[in-house]
Amino acid sequence: MQTDNRQIYVDNAATTKMSRTAIDAMLPYMDKIYGNPSSLHSVGQRANEALAGARERVAKLLGCEPREITFTSGGSEADNQAIVSAARLGARKGKKHIISTAFEHHAVLHTLDALKKEGFEITLLDVHEWGIITAEEVAAAIRPDTCLVTVVYANNEIGTIQPIAEIGAVCKEKGVLFHTDAVQAVGHLHINVKEQNIDMLSLSAHKFHGPKGVGVLYARKGIALTNIIYGGAQERGKRAGTENIPGIMGMTAAMEEACANIDANAEKLIYLRDKLIAGLSAIPHSILNGDAKSRLPGNVNFCFEGIEGESLLLLLDDKGICASSGSACTSGSLDPSHVLLAIGRVHDIAHGSLRLSLCEENTEEEIDYVIKSVEEVVTYLRSISPIWRDLVTGKKQFIIK
Ligand SMILES: *Cc1c(COP(=O)(O)O)cnc(C)c1O
Repeated sequence: MQTDNRQIYVDNAATTKMSRTAIDAMLPYMDKIYGNPSSLHSVGQRANEALAGARERVAKLLGCEPREITFTSGGSEADNQAIVSAARLGARKGKKHIISTAFEHHAVLHTLDALKKEGFEITLLDVHEWGIITAEEVAAAIRPDTCLVTVVYANNEIGTIQPIAEIGAVCKEKGVLFHTDAVQAVGHLHINVKEQNIDMLSLSAHKFHGPKGVGVLYARKGIALTNIIYGGAQERGKRAGTENIPGIMGMTAAMEEACANIDANAEKLIYLRDKLIAGLSAIPHSILNGDAKSRLPGNVNFCFEGIEGESLLLLLDDKGICASSGSACTSGSLDPSHVLLAIGRVHDIAHGSLRLSLCEENTEEEIDYVIKSVEEVVTYLRSISPIWRDLVTGKKQFIIK
């Protein structure tokens, strides 16, 4: 069935291929400069200098100070540490209420679940059908005992971008800490933590062509972080463990490269994205998930009525297309995506979802092939689906017009 041996990779929200720049930046720290930054000898000190340099470079890209940067093992750890830290600070003042949204990444939602079991009260804001919350809704939910607002910068499934600066301003005015999971946004959108009133921010290297297993927690100075990992005095004592120097160097190089190319990449991606959206919209009884404009340049997410997402993915894979039904974390489970349920898609519809997340290496030819392939596969699956038969014979009503 596969038309050529080339894979068309349109699952960049799950992870990206490492860039040559990132790989080249890592290699010297695997053989030549392999020291432990905590060692006092010259081999260690060279690694320590590289670490300090990386911290400065990352800080510059986010618009903060080097000491506000903590290197972590990725986005999940940064989310956990940010939220737990804010919770502990709040609890000390008797503030045990946290505001978030219904469509956060599981790294946030499951951390909040754990805090709920400890007695914290969690408000998950509704995100509307178009997948965006407003600063006014956040303001209305803030109470005297609110210690944290945490909102995903850009959703990992439907790509919708939240009004982060406005939410930050509301939190600042009300004296509530504001964290954003910016894992999908860093390297793809312009971010400045000071200008956008962000107190804490999580990012992950493997979402912008850096290595897996490394990320950053930015925390504004004055916010005392709680340890998630105890041990040595690395990262000002707030994150123990010998630093992942190759990973940090690769991440830093990838982040510089991605940030330098945000506008050029966005221009190219928005063209491809909108072409893909137009092509898939032409499939009958299909619907785009999330706002068409306020979304990541590379994100496309659709539901097709009468289709089961898993079968769609397997048949697309046969055609050489690597896609996803939602987040990589929920695939494998039979539950429909909590993100699609949060924007009001009913179970049956949410099951028929497809996420195509592009990167700047994708070509227009690939997009044409993806459109043609999705059309073919959807038509085929509907032709053998009993649900589809009920819909076309009028036994059941279509939900997607
Ligand atoms: C990928 C992702 C994470 C998790 O990051 P890891 O580095 O894989 O732990 C968290 N939040 C969002 C929005 C993501 O897309």
